[in-house]
Amino acid sequence: MQLYTKIMIALVLGVVIGLVANLLGLDWLVAFLVGIRQFGDAWIDLITMVVIPLVVASLIVGTASLGDITKVGRIGGKTMAYYLATTAVAVVIGLVLSNIFLRNPGMSEEALAGLRGTYLEEGQSRVELAERAPGLVEVLRGISPRNPIEALANFEMLPILFFSVFFGAALSVLATAKREPVLNFFEGVNSAATVMIHWIMKLAPYAVFALIGAVIAQFGADVLGSLLIYSLVVVLGLLLHLGLTYMAALRFLARLNPLRFLRRVRSVQLVAFSTSSSNATLPLTLETAEEEVGVSKEVSSFVLPLGATINMDGTALYQAVATMFIAQVLVGDLTLAAQFGIVLTATLASIGAAGVPSAGIIILIVVLQQALPPTVDPAAGIALILGVDRILDMCRTTLNVTGDLTAAAVIARSEGETLEASSDLNPAT
Ligand code: ASP
Repeated sequence: MQLYTKIMIALVLGVVIGLVANLLGLDWLVAFLVGIRQFGDAWIDLITMVVIPLVVASLIVGTASLGDITKVGRIGGKTMAYYLATTAVAVVIGLVLSNIFLRNPGMSEEALAGLRGTYLEEGQSRVELAERAPGLVEVLRGISPRNPIEALANFEMLPILFFSVFFGAALSVLATAKREPVLNFFEGVNSAATVMIHWIMKLAPYAVFALIGAVIAQFGADVLGSLLIYSLVVVLGLLLHLGLTYMAALRFLARLNPLRFLRRVRSVQLVAFSTSSSNATLPLTLETAEEEVGVSKEVSSFVLPLGATINMDGTALYQAVATMFIAQVLVGDLTLAAQFGIVLTATLASIGAAGVPSAGIIILIVVLQQALPPTVDPAAGIALILGVDRILDMCRTTLNVTGDLTAAAVIARSEGETLEASSDLNPAT
């Protein structure tokens, strides 16, 4: 049986058993599912453990074998432009849908008070977390690490990427006798990390079951009632961005058959959905881009880790819809100028969000502070939407990683790659 099929079965089983536990109020089953969640979390740690050795080794090998340092700059420029443009499109889709469907979200005073009562405290703790998070300027300022080992130890992705590219570029200009041993070493690290991923992925179906079962079992279906329209608008926006923006980019820029591409990357999507983490999914994203889509290591090892860190179309779209929804409930319509502000802040804020669960809702506070009048307490806004956040996090993370993979295909094609490992992806075949 294919890995995808196994993960899919685990997902469906997790949803069904979680629903049974939830709807029938079987406390012992809920407790069991919540208990085995530990296994799912341990699996996320296990696969995240491979991220740093894999990213560093594959980026150093990738950059050192480019043969031409100016190529790094060119790929970097194109990737950033593509990422920013698609994220801005995602935000605009979110805003347009919100203007159409969220004009009057119809939330009763009672529902409002209920959500406030349940989630205000948690909302406040998110605001405190947001206050401690580094701002965009600090993130950009910190790209060149003073101490690369410290950056590695703290999982600071952008400084790690910067150091690895810089190191790989320097390696590429050395004489062969000096370059080869270092390159061989990192190639070995890269291969060993790949084997680790294969082993860890064998456990993926069990982990997916453990992760999903607990989320569904603990989910308060009553919360969904008052947040249904909001949740549906987020999901519709994500689907539209996938169906319009990515399909067009795949068809016309990457010149691939979009549906076959999606079939190739579906395991990545399932893992992203189950883990809610672009970072944890990154090892599989890298491998899939190379083996299933045929993107070269030079491109994938640069575009994908960067994407997992800064390219979050799903998160940006969700932030736009969430801001509009919170505004409607708490203060009413937002002006066009305020909405334009959301395009800017949500695009930039999504760059600042880390690829870990719930990062989006913390960074959302920045967008709320900019878009809403200062009299509105952001914690009150967060309290409104917290109840459905985990489920929406799963959906937006799925789009985030699909966006990264699409970008890798687009950039690879623009660099003249034939995407050979996947000849059956080409529309002509
Ligand atoms: N969980 C998302 C990710 O890892 C970030 C977010 O919370 O939106 O891509």
